[in-house]
Amino acid sequence: MTMPSIKRVLLKLSGEVLMGDQPFGIDSAFVADLAQEVKAAKDTGLEICLVIGGGNIFRGMAGAAAGMDRAQADYMGMLATVMNALAMQNALEQIGVHTRVQSAVQMDQVCEPVIRRRAERHLEKGRIVIFAAGVGSPYFTTDSGAALRAAEMKCDALLKGTSVDGVYDDDPKKNPTAKRFETVSYDRVLADNLKVMDASAVALCRDNGIPIVVFSIREKGNLARVLAGRGVQTIVRKEA
Ligand code: UDP
Repeated sequence: MTMPSIKRVLLKLSGEVLMGDQPFGIDSAFVADLAQEVKAAKDTGLEICLVIGGGNIFRGMAGAAAGMDRAQADYMGMLATVMNALAMQNALEQIGVHTRVQSAVQMDQVCEPVIRRRAERHLEKGRIVIFAAGVGSPYFTTDSGAALRAAEMKCDALLKGTSVDGVYDDDPKKNPTAKRFETVSYDRVLADNLKVMDASAVALCRDNGIPIVVFSIREKGNLARVLAGRGVQTIVRKEA
């Protein structure tokens, strides 16, 4: 499988991967392992933007299902993504990787606001930029935030690190004969409602020609393998 030629990448990690084997929250040891994976990718010379979800702490939909106002619950979800961004920043800086967090919800005491030109400068200086709080508006997700930042920062690909090793034609946990795609088109993902990212994120990637690489971040060394074209993954792109 040939990977797209990649110099700058946006890596999206769902909040769930930060909780390791715990049922909730942040597993520091697991975040430290993830930071090593990210460092290894960076050491190959890549420029890296990171977006981390918040599902390990709070999801707006869950709050709404429990009777909360949806927008209010979504703001809580956005704050959860900032906590995760700070946890990842801490883990990366402990192993000598310079980072900056930029949040779409301004909180000056904790991190920078999202400023594209400043983010460019950070990348030029070899820092990793962690974009927090998604797009900064309720009714969106960090997948949309990831697609937006990938477009804005002109990333060559959006890498979605999750707990499954790609995109399947059915739920592999329920159907043992489900087949993993090597490549699949944006349009098929949207038409068949395949579980990759939410539709607005997929459409944004499609409209800006950004390939989405879905892979498992739970296996050690997998990020580097995927980037070297030796990993197990699914690539979502124009022509499958
Ligand atoms: N969220 C939001 N707007 C955004 C990004 C996130 O309202 O632009 C909220 C939303 O409630 C979401 C929560 O933050 O459920 C956590 O993000 P997400 O569900 O994308 O996290 P992940 O599933 O990747 O862990």
